[in-house]
Amino acid sequence: MMKKIFHKMQEGKSVSLVYFLVLAYTIAALVWWGILLFRQSEQISGFERKNLYLRVDSLAQPVEHQLELQRINKEEHMRSFKYLGEGVIFLGIILLGALFVYRAVWKYMKLSRQQQNFMMAVTHELKSPIAAAKLNLETIRKHRLDEEKQLKLINNTIRETNRLDQLCNNILLAAQLETHKYQLYKEPLDFSALVTNSIKDLDGRIGTHQIQAQILPDVWLEGDKLTLQIILSNLVENAAKYAPKNTTIIVKLFESGGNLKLQVIDEGPGIPEEEKARIFLKFYRVGNENTRKAKGSGLGLFLTAKIVEQHGGNIIVKDNTPAGSCFEITLPEYSVQTA
Ligand code: ADP
Repeated sequence: MMKKIFHKMQEGKSVSLVYFLVLAYTIAALVWWGILLFRQSEQISGFERKNLYLRVDSLAQPVEHQLELQRINKEEHMRSFKYLGEGVIFLGIILLGALFVYRAVWKYMKLSRQQQNFMMAVTHELKSPIAAAKLNLETIRKHRLDEEKQLKLINNTIRETNRLDQLCNNILLAAQLETHKYQLYKEPLDFSALVTNSIKDLDGRIGTHQIQAQILPDVWLEGDKLTLQIILSNLVENAAKYAPKNTTIIVKLFESGGNLKLQVIDEGPGIPEEEKARIFLKFYRVGNENTRKAKGSGLGLFLTAKIVEQHGGNIIVKDNTPAGSCFEITLPEYSVQTA
């Protein structure tokens, strides 16, 4: 795996080297072409001046001589101006083209690197629950286990298949949202109840952290139930993945400044300032393969941001005090129904 990444990096370096060599050669050729033209222009003027001395006698016809000399000098100036102007325009076009090509190649290489990271991460994420589920089932088949142990293994297998299911859903949904094939099914729903139920479900699945809920009741909005559940589970599962065990994850739903806010707050490492915007990009993961401990695909926050956007809201990440991060979703359209 590392060899492949190293190989890609080397490939990237040699592509850049060839690119800059070609660019330097093109600019050098342009400069050389300019020098030759200036020299040629000087030769033409010199030749014309010589010719002038032969044609017009400077003592007998001083005015004509002077006028001709002025014309020759003016033409030389005009040529210089033309060459300089053309040179600058060509140089501008070359640099602009080079910039476009460089940006396109750089973008392509970045995407291909991210996709490769994604493939490696996804392969691992797909393989590990399959391997765990297979092992559990083989153990049940091979050994006569008491009912309690059997149940434990079965529950574990269900958890692993849920993980697999969620990853597949994320991958499919990301592809569908990108190609606009997923149509949100928006309906009026009790958002407070949806958040509360999702947290209950997540609390049952996540045994490593305490989840605290502070939910404003009776909040209604027009939304797509399935994708709204996905954003909540993505944020809470990230909090559980990146924050140390036995810390608290707080989920808050409240009103502020005429908007509805949903916050997922953890006591983890937080997000460095320069990464705060990038983590919502597709396949983006903080750090590199060597420094990352947690497994993932870099799709969760991309999906979350896309879904929030399709609900007319926005998502940001802030620092939690004293430590950790606070993912905050703002939704403008909602109502609080009081009985
Ligand atoms: P994944 O978790 O699969 O890598 P995400 O899109 O969910 O992908 O997250 C992108 C990156 O943002 C993660 O790789 C991680 O570095 C960072 N991140 C997300 N949530 C948190 C969090 N709660 N605390 C710290 N870092 C986080």
